Amino acid sequence: MEIQYVIINFLILAAILVVFGRKTVISIFKNRYDKLNRDLTEAEEILASSSPVLIDEEVAAPEISDDFEVEQARAAAEAKISQLKSFEERECREIHRGMIEDARKELFEILKKNTAELFSKEPYLSRMRALESSIVDNILSQIKLTSGDMSYLKHSDVLYVTLTSAHPLPKELVEKIDEATTELLNTVNGKTSLWVLEDPALIGGLKLRIGDTVYDGTVVEEFYHFNRRLNREPIFDSDASDSLLSEFMDKAENYQPEIYTYQLGRVMTVSDGICWMDGLADIMYGEVIEFECGERGMVLDIQQNRIGCVIFGKYENIESGSRVRRIGRIATVPVGDCLLGRIVDARGNAIDGEGYLPFKERRPIEFKAPAILERAPVDSPLHTGIKAIDALVPIGKGQRELIIGDRQTGKTAIAIDTIINQKGKGTVCIYVAIGQKETLIAEIREKLKAHGALEYTTIISAPASESAALQYIAPFAGAAMAEHFMYSGRDVLIVYDDLSKHAVAYRELSLLLHRPSGREAYPGDIFYLHSRLLERAAHLSSELGGGSITALPIVETLAGDISAYIPTNVISITDGQIFLDSELFNEGQRPAVNVGLSVSRVGGAAQSKLMKQVSGNLRARLAQYRELADFMQFGSDIDDETKKTLASGRMLMEALKQARYNPIPDYLQAVLIFAVSEGYCACLDPNEMAKFERELYAYIENDCKELSEKLKAAKKMDEQTKSELKAALGEFAARA
Ligand code: ATP
Ligand code: MG
Repeated sequence: MEIQYVIINFLILAAILVVFGRKTVISIFKNRYDKLNRDLTEAEEILASSSPVLIDEEVAAPEISDDFEVEQARAAAEAKISQLKSFEERECREIHRGMIEDARKELFEILKKNTAELFSKEPYLSRMRALESSIVDNILSQIKLTSGDMSYLKHSDVLYVTLTSAHPLPKELVEKIDEATTELLNTVNGKTSLWVLEDPALIGGLKLRIGDTVYDGTVVEEFYHFNRRLNREPIFDSDASDSLLSEFMDKAENYQPEIYTYQLGRVMTVSDGICWMDGLADIMYGEVIEFECGERGMVLDIQQNRIGCVIFGKYENIESGSRVRRIGRIATVPVGDCLLGRIVDARGNAIDGEGYLPFKERRPIEFKAPAILERAPVDSPLHTGIKAIDALVPIGKGQRELIIGDRQTGKTAIAIDTIINQKGKGTVCIYVAIGQKETLIAEIREKLKAHGALEYTTIISAPASESAALQYIAPFAGAAMAEHFMYSGRDVLIVYDDLSKHAVAYRELSLLLHRPSGREAYPGDIFYLHSRLLERAAHLSSELGGGSITALPIVETLAGDISAYIPTNVISITDGQIFLDSELFNEGQRPAVNVGLSVSRVGGAAQSKLMKQVSGNLRARLAQYRELADFMQFGSDIDDETKKTLASGRMLMEALKQARYNPIPDYLQAVLIFAVSEGYCACLDPNEMAKFERELYAYIENDCKELSEKLKAAKKMDEQTKSELKAALGEFAARA
């Protein structure tokens, strides 16, 4: 009986345990299982983040066909190249740009795939494997710790070293690398942790990454450099394409590994055209970097634990966590005569549908301005062909003259007229459009073309639709293009239209980069930015070829307020300003130059003696007229003397009016001003001034040929010429 009780008790106990304990037991196991899983994923994440080389598993090893030959690879590539050539030779290459880019990519893939096949077969495979030891020796002879590694070691005592190879490496080689890197780190009391990875996508060879620096001796790296060249050189030039192809096939057949050294970083976040990265320990301000997707950017901010950069192209394809590569140089643009007559974007790519730019040289967009001893004083005039400017605010070659005024006051018109007036004078012109409407840029191109001015002009277009980063670098790109001409002894006129929009683009970048904002929310270094840009305009000394850059920056004001931040900045940087008054503009006085507020601080020395003689007291007379005219609004009782002053002032103002696209030669301007100030048109109706002017020019040019030749050649008007001119004007006035 007792045994039965024991058994029943035991069964009841067991049943209770099963009913109530099961859940607890399961939950204990489940917790343990979850924890294990968590640890595992965490470990995987750490492995992924500390392993500096991403193994792209999707890129499978290429398929190997048995009957593959070198000649076959060459034939496949040649077929692709001829297709590419036929695309590029067509007239409107721009339209085919997408096709060309695709064909280039295909060509590159064909070459890459064929070479991969080649290297997977005997005897190439054994040859490649035999090279591994020499690659290792070569890499080990180059490794060193950079200053970035040293600063990293201050915070951490382990520096990660990753060895990645296409094929499994012999044990001795791995040990050799381990020893060498440990020894390198020992010199600075640091430790290493060596990761050994295998990645068939490398095709052949191996690479070693120490900290952020990669020593790369892989076939894929060789491809990368080949691809960069492929994209740089137009294929339609048959010599270039043949030499590229044979060079590449040569490389494939007699592969000799080269070690490329570069630094890598990693994208942390991307937004609004700004990217934050880590790594790239030795990067410098202004350097160009390349993202995995091929887009490029420029470093604009360096902080202790992150680096900020602007992205030039599309940033949609940049992924957080992807690799960033240091290019090792600052941004450059193509320069040279091939740019004349073209429209390019801020990076120097042609965007006018006229095909590739056959450029030979590039220049950095940031360059040190010429030093004092390298400069010569401004001494020769740069004629604008606009009476109000050449007579009152003359501009000299190498000068920086600001054009400032409210919106729609004819600022751009003055710059374009000045460009048109350079025809046949040997001056190269560069028009940088920053934040303008694309229709306006197209219109300017058409106007320049119609007046025969496009052939010596380059238009750099960074329209409002372009990213702030490109608007920011556009004027610097223009300055680089101008410098090329200046240093080869030529004269350049560069127009920055306009710097207020440039300042806004830079403010946008700075705010996105979390820089503290200063006055009017502009960053503190905006003054330095503009002075650095404008200081590059200069007249070089004769030892340096005597070339010059004349800069015409344009600034827009709000309600004529020239005391705002950007206007005062640029006024203080430049050598004078042409102030355009919206009131004058609306009164019909065009160009609306406000004589009182416009100055040219150095141009006087460059003004021709002839013009100086005739326009000596012009400024004072105009000032007197404006003052009297303002005063006269209050009363009507005026004496004869005042009436006379007012009439002649009115005449002078009329004489300074000028239509667009109508530049007037210097000597004719002098004749007109002389005629007006000497009173030859005193009895004329002011409204007939335009007709008088037209007829006077025709008379001087056609009926007084000898005198006009004399005036054209004369630097200064002597007494005899003066009396001849007076006689001619007397006769003309009598006729009219
Ligand atoms: P924005 O602020 O939009 O850049 P802007 O100050 O550059 O304007 P423009 O575009 O050069 O001004 O000119 C504004 C208008 O004035 C244009 O329609 C132009 O044709 C006209 N204009 C400019 N100069 C003259 C002139 N000398 N004679 C007649 N019209 C002119
Ligand atoms: Mg304008």
